[in-house]
Amino acid sequence: MIPALAVEPKMGRLYTDYFDALRLARFAGDIEVSAGSTTVFATDNSIYQLRPQAVLFPRQRADLVLIASLASEPRFRGVCFAVRGGGTGTNGQSLTDGIVIDMSRHMNRIVAIDPVRRTAVVEAGVVKDQLNKALKSHGLFFAPELSTSNRATIGGMINTDACGQGSCIYGKTSNHVLALNAVLMDGTEWLSRPLAPEALRAVLERPDRVGDVHRLADAIERENRDLIGATYPKLNRFLTGYDLAHLRTEDGGLNLNSVLCGAEGTLAMIAEAELNLLPIPRFAALINIRYDDFDAALRDARFLTELKVASVETIDAKVLSLARSDIVWEEVGQFFAHDRAGDVAGINIVEVLANDEEELCAKLDQVTSALAGDGRPGRRGFTVAGNKHDVEAIWAMRKRAVGLLGNVEGPRRPVAFVEDTAVPPEHLADYIAEFRALLDAEGLDYGMFGHVDAGVLHVRPALDLTDERQEPLVRRVSDAVAKLTLKYGGVFWGEHGKGARSEYAPDFFGPLYPELQRLKAAFDPHNQLNPGKIATPGHGALTRIDELPLRGAFDRRIDPDTRQAFDNAAYCNGNGACFDFNTDSAMCPSFKGTGDRRFSPKGRASLIREWLRLLAERGVDLKAEAEVLRKRPAWRGPLPRLIASLGRTKGGDFSHQVREAMDTCLACKACAGQCPVKVNVPAFRSKFLELYYGRYLRPLKDPLIASIEHLLPVIAKVGWLYNLVAGSRPGQALMGKVGLTALPLLSRQSLPTELRRRGVAIARPADLAALSPSEKERSLVLVQDSFTSYFEPALLLDFIDLLLALGFKPFVAPLKPNGKALHVHGYLGAFERAAEHNARHLSRLAASGVPLVGLDPSMTLCYRSEYPGALEAGKTPTVLLPQEWLGERLDQLAVRKLHRPETQYVLLPHCTERTNTADSVKSWGAIFDALGLKLTIEDAGCCGMAGTFGHERKNRALSETIYKLSWRQKVEGAGPRRIPMATGYSCRSQVKLMGSPGLPHPLQLLKALVCEDSRGGFHNSHDM
Ligand SMILES: Cc1cc2nc3c(=O)[nH]c(=O)nc-3n(C[C@H](O)[C@H](O)[C@H](O)COP(=O)(O)OP(=O)(O)OC[C@H]3O[C@@H](n4cnc5c(N)ncnc54)[C@H](O)[C@@H]3O)c2cc1C
Ligand code: SF4
Ligand code: SF4
Repeated sequence: MIPALAVEPKMGRLYTDYFDALRLARFAGDIEVSAGSTTVFATDNSIYQLRPQAVLFPRQRADLVLIASLASEPRFRGVCFAVRGGGTGTNGQSLTDGIVIDMSRHMNRIVAIDPVRRTAVVEAGVVKDQLNKALKSHGLFFAPELSTSNRATIGGMINTDACGQGSCIYGKTSNHVLALNAVLMDGTEWLSRPLAPEALRAVLERPDRVGDVHRLADAIERENRDLIGATYPKLNRFLTGYDLAHLRTEDGGLNLNSVLCGAEGTLAMIAEAELNLLPIPRFAALINIRYDDFDAALRDARFLTELKVASVETIDAKVLSLARSDIVWEEVGQFFAHDRAGDVAGINIVEVLANDEEELCAKLDQVTSALAGDGRPGRRGFTVAGNKHDVEAIWAMRKRAVGLLGNVEGPRRPVAFVEDTAVPPEHLADYIAEFRALLDAEGLDYGMFGHVDAGVLHVRPALDLTDERQEPLVRRVSDAVAKLTLKYGGVFWGEHGKGARSEYAPDFFGPLYPELQRLKAAFDPHNQLNPGKIATPGHGALTRIDELPLRGAFDRRIDPDTRQAFDNAAYCNGNGACFDFNTDSAMCPSFKGTGDRRFSPKGRASLIREWLRLLAERGVDLKAEAEVLRKRPAWRGPLPRLIASLGRTKGGDFSHQVREAMDTCLACKACAGQCPVKVNVPAFRSKFLELYYGRYLRPLKDPLIASIEHLLPVIAKVGWLYNLVAGSRPGQALMGKVGLTALPLLSRQSLPTELRRRGVAIARPADLAALSPSEKERSLVLVQDSFTSYFEPALLLDFIDLLLALGFKPFVAPLKPNGKALHVHGYLGAFERAAEHNARHLSRLAASGVPLVGLDPSMTLCYRSEYPGALEAGKTPTVLLPQEWLGERLDQLAVRKLHRPETQYVLLPHCTERTNTADSVKSWGAIFDALGLKLTIEDAGCCGMAGTFGHERKNRALSETIYKLSWRQKVEGAGPRRIPMATGYSCRSQVKLMGSPGLPHPLQLLKALVCEDSRGGFHNSHDM
């Protein structure tokens, strides 16, 4: 069995005293010191890993004041902090070995929106997309754009002065900040806003820290005016943070927001911000230009920018080729098709915006005529995307670029450390040519994309930092690129901030650097806020790029095979796509429902990496452990596990903290499908549970749930008794004791009788083999799953009726356990055996050439995702989803036209299906279309049930919370002419449990329509 992993007490006296003092002073937020929490907050999207002492989650401004005023007491001046928003920084900006202050959990309220003045006041933890969603109905938006808009917070954006696509017309975050509610390190609250000369005079008189910082800033600007003008490049991406160039207002006043924006939390904690809003441009179109090579795309950028378009974005061949194999390509592929000239090796995406259609057409005309009249070398042709859906899909693809780069095979993965340099756009192509030569000389692979209109190129060289020999590359490449950027008059940090790259600050700020240090000293005299970043207050050194511990140095202690075996957990790069704010996206329900970052794919991947490392350090061979467990007879093991369960580990066993995070995972697999790196939590969760419960006793519910498929045939023999228990209060109370709740009732319908009644045969290999080729053409084998067959056989029968009505010949495969529940709960030995048995049986049926079709998405997709890992290559049977099978027979459906123009059919797909087989979900649209019906496929999050998750008592509240985030509204939004449908058994059960009328499966709806149609003649106009 695996050993207990005692968590060493790390925290020093200084910090324990500080937390005691905080509690005593009635800090209203959360204080988390567990190894689990601190592990999850030890990384961002950078190459670094630094574990904090604790994480504080303030609830209100007063908590920040408390944090700061206590920390300013002489006894606590050694305590330091990093404020954190979404944690998507790429350079270790929010990493610290002190205390992380997370603003995102509680301080995420939109305080006020004033549509007349076009302003909003928000707390710092509000996510950018959250704000824009709230603004949409007012026709307004917060303009600065960034790829991480669905998880980056306004506080983080302000502190990195974020911007991205469209920055040439919309500028940076600092251009839209009206006022900042800041808490200074002595506990002073201060509303920073531009001060007219008179107001400035009053502030300069103040005897407090606010007065000090204004006096100093005023003096610095006066004394260095010329030097400031000469030092700050006249670029769209000027030196940001401590921005002395924009301190003085036009009327001679002072605006310290220019200093605070981009300061990366080194000067003050931002509690709230007042922001300037803009009207949403009503019309947008994209012109997608293809090139022979990337250099041609870069050299064309100048010409395109001069056409006065809204933005010009570029993507190189590498990113493009990764996008081709990603979920996004389905939507955008048509705009970037290869042509006769061969592969497209670079693209520019040109955006035009307009307030009305006429203006849009005129602008499009202008750009396309300019392109037609100017035949640049290497430019191949273009497409135009004019509708909202296409425009959004192309931007979504562009936003995924960084993530896509991470989705490559092998240990060398793209990493962020020289990724956002900016040079004057006119030098970009030459600069990039030298940059590429430099990377090529080091033998590095890389992909490039960026904002060519602003001269910013994102470059992530692929390194394997678990290989010690590659570490020096970080220094060599950084030094060379910093020098190159200076040579071309650019900046090293054009977009993502300085963080651990702050050592280059003196080179770029030159003789003004000491003034930055004076500012830092005035704001934060004891160097407690993000020390080492951007500027030091005289004492303390700047962080050097090779000073913070590298993630790779931790991961290298795990042997490569184990790293490989744990389903990409080791490759999670912290880009945070799994923190998606959008409640209608499938990713990740447990994070959305809890707001706890431990309970996200990134959180779980971080915990597993740490767990693997701790086990590796103790010399544990996990493969051997798993083999022993899989072979062990059931009667061996309970006693040692009982002893381990009763025993106590000093400081607690880290494995318990990992299990806690795994417990809240719904195994919905959205991460496996949508994480750009394909971090597959359910897969490594099962491996973890197997090993964890090799040491500890399982809760009683586990064997019950895991063996449900084996138990159901037995239970069904006394179905009346089961229904009596599951349907009665005492029975439910009893189930509750075992940890189960809201159990469904067995159907009273007898499937064998009903099949006989319809003349549908049980599939046998010999019978199938004996079918003539034309019979095989019309035949299919329905692969049963226990949940449909025992709880909802009516669905299977409806499908059969539909097939018969359409002239097909269905067979039904004998019911065998599929093993999914065993896998989910980590009974991997038993799962392997179930999979082998079932696969052998299904393969015999499949050998006839008659296709196999499974009804339930989750059970059917198990054959594609879990079976291949358990079986020898080539032994997994192909089992299609109904829509995949029907989708190949559209011509046979097209003979029926069920005209229902006024009815809106709405499909709520199962989230595993939606995220792992997006194309198959689209097939439903084609099927409905072939039958003359209009189907809308709704974007919905997770229903919260996910197999048996919502039937476990401890999960029920979370399950319901998740349901209410997205599904409830989609289900209850149903009107008389809107018919929502769901493909998942779990989803339909959840809808019923939540008190709504049950939803039909789309097949049931089609059956009703087709059968009704057959009876009443074609083209009958009744709506269903
Ligand atoms: C895949 C990917 C794509 C990206 N694309 C872009 C892009 O297009 N444009 C762009 O600008 N950036 C981009 N970034 C970088 C990053 O997303 C931005 O810098 C973003 O603004 C950070 O927001 P956050 O909430 O995650 O902040 P965090 O990473 O949590 O923090 C960033 C900095 O702000 C400080 N901070 C946060 N909140 C506060 C507060 N309330 N008070 C004081 N200090 C605070 C932190 O201490 C830290 O120094 C990208 C990152 C990734 C991973
Ligand atoms: S789990 Fe995937 S999406 Fe989440 S941070 Fe890691 S790599 Fe990004
Ligand atoms: S399986 Fe679902 S709940 Fe679990 S981590 Fe992945 S996205 Fe989150």
